[in-house]
Amino acid sequence: MASNRKPFSVGEIKCTAISDGTFSYPADWFFSNVPKEQLEDSLRDHDLPLNQIVSPYTCLIVKTGKHNVLIDTGADGLAPTTGDLLQNLKAEGITPEEITTVILTHAHPDHIGGVLDTNSKPAFPYARYIMSRTEWHFWTSHPDLRSTGMDNHVKDLLVTCARKSLPPLTGCVELLDGEKEVVPGVHAIPAPGHTPGHIAVMVSSANAQLLHIADAVLHPMHLEYPAWRNVFDLSEEDAATTRQRLLDRAAADHTNVLAYHFPFPSLGQVVKRGNAWRWEPLPFDPLPPRTG
Ligand SMILES: [Zn+2]
Repeated sequence: MASNRKPFSVGEIKCTAISDGTFSYPADWFFSNVPKEQLEDSLRDHDLPLNQIVSPYTCLIVKTGKHNVLIDTGADGLAPTTGDLLQNLKAEGITPEEITTVILTHAHPDHIGGVLDTNSKPAFPYARYIMSRTEWHFWTSHPDLRSTGMDNHVKDLLVTCARKSLPPLTGCVELLDGEKEVVPGVHAIPAPGHTPGHIAVMVSSANAQLLHIADAVLHPMHLEYPAWRNVFDLSEEDAATTRQRLLDRAAADHTNVLAYHFPFPSLGQVVKRGNAWRWEPLPFDPLPPRTG
């Protein structure tokens, strides 16, 4: 089985986790308030490099029978190591024309970087694009990123990408307010903090569920150390509240979870441990039934 595509089921719904690639970030962008020594100890404990966080970008295909939903579009053009979504979709036998719905969890470049083709037209020509109204208005007006710890060149990159990528979607974008069924079996759930209109997505069928938490958590170590911050969250307070709500729900229900930036295929369960959590990657073939 290819290491960049992972088919699995959620009840009757067929899903495939599809890699868009990976990108290397300075470790202190992912863990911005952690003393260097403590961070290095923890990275060592996890057998991870000390200076760079190699972060996967994992898109998700959800085939409900009637609809082919794509959740997030990767980061075409960001780096030579990103932008693999279309070729991996093709290898999975899916053409852009077959995608009926594109859900954008938020408007950061690693999630909307694949919405347009080389002619600046929607890359999935017959899809309706779904996004939070709050998110759309934030990025298409004058986004205030002062509360984040990002370098100025990163802020510029974010704003430039949104200004380039979003306007051509006018006409095929549908903006959401609050929790909403996007197609039967697929619900968008407000999850603000990382960005103002960041959403999570719940996929449900029969007795099974998959909670896609997008960027509510960026790295498994954030589960173990809930006080550890990253430079990207626009509102640390809202992000912390959202994390607590989503993770406690996932842990209590033993829900299978997809986290966009976790090691591919980015699927696992969240286990409550005291006031924190632990990430348990899912064993595969076949995906175990939901327990509890
Ligand atoms: Zn992201």
